[in-house]
Amino acid sequence: MGKMQMTEERRKQQNKIKRVGVIGGGQLAWMMADAAKKLGVDLIIQTSHKDDPAVSIAKDIVLAEIDDYQATTKLANSCNVITFENEFINIDELSFLAEKDVIFRPSLSVLKPLLDKYEQLCYLQDLGLPVPNFWEWGKEIEPLSFPLVLKARRHGYDGQGTFIVKDIESLQSQGNSEFFIQEFVPFDREVAVIAARGVAGEVKIYPVVETQQQNQVCRRVFVPDENWELGEKIEAIAHSLLNSLEVVGVLGIEMFITQDKKVLINEIAPRTHNSGHYTLDACQTSQFEQHLRAVCGLPLGSTALKARGAVMVNLLGYEFGKKNYLTKQQQLASIPNASIWWYGKTESRPGRKLGHVTVLLDQENSETMGREAKAIADQIENIWHS
Ligand code: ADP
Repeated sequence: MGKMQMTEERRKQQNKIKRVGVIGGGQLAWMMADAAKKLGVDLIIQTSHKDDPAVSIAKDIVLAEIDDYQATTKLANSCNVITFENEFINIDELSFLAEKDVIFRPSLSVLKPLLDKYEQLCYLQDLGLPVPNFWEWGKEIEPLSFPLVLKARRHGYDGQGTFIVKDIESLQSQGNSEFFIQEFVPFDREVAVIAARGVAGEVKIYPVVETQQQNQVCRRVFVPDENWELGEKIEAIAHSLLNSLEVVGVLGIEMFITQDKKVLINEIAPRTHNSGHYTLDACQTSQFEQHLRAVCGLPLGSTALKARGAVMVNLLGYEFGKKNYLTKQQQLASIPNASIWWYGKTESRPGRKLGHVTVLLDQENSETMGREAKAIADQIENIWHS
């Protein structure tokens, strides 16, 4: 009876979630808009830039740096639950709010081991999950063989903060204690998976996808990854990670596949992720809706594909300017089965993520589909860079 009452109580509380605070106002928050509308929740965004993409879809904004905890106190007062669209927060300061019963989803204890990439790898290793060899700055590297990868422990994104170093001189001149060192993995492919866990502990895992990076930045995502044998192994990794973290919300898990088909985890993003943008068009439930469902305590949705496959290509800035590239957007939109997601950023700069295109595919034969996906990705990049 007591248990039943508690469940009922919890259900009532969850039904009350109508206002979700989001720390960060970039495209990941912006892409929650349709799902928020569908689920009948308002998004209140904390961001320091009033021309950030998500400002246009926010019910209210708290205009402040994302690590400004006093601003987050204000955010907490105006919503039922707080979630994150990026991880550049100050967790120690936020813990005062958690002590005052502010609900964070994912919780601060979930984020704690994940925010610093070195600590994240230690956490994964302690769980017995496979990661590349890595060393804290200043520790002896055994065996010392180049290239090595120098990575910023915090605040790295889109490859900024990741450097491949070829000799000891470059290592010493570029690194310091804000970095750690990782073995260079001569991977065969990179794959990623989005995984979600709800308030009641249910887990949903999306299809494994192949991601292709250039200069450490994601360019293309192919859905699904064609190597089915690895699927089970990867799902098991996702399950054990989600269950040990007891995360509520969505995680992006990036992995290397070695020549001998070993899976090594590169990185976990405790939020929605670029490798899951295809879900907006290609899945029954997008990663953004899934995240909001989890955060609002609603049952998770189906992760099934709506088409046999899909390809997603990022539209990365290649110049400084204030254009909206309308003609190119129109050309891209004329590709059959394509959806253009243009983030509405007011300024372009080289490497900046300005939008993405997803094209749904329906070939029965996976090899034909793979070839078609690659041809479409080339076509998109040709239009974008013409
Ligand atoms: P970010 O968090 O900025 O995306 P990552 O650590 O994920 O940075 O690195 C970006 C990309 O750099 C990876 O997707 C991969 O292509 C390459 N990379 C990162 N670490 C390694 C490594 N240890 N060995 C080989 N390539 C790597």
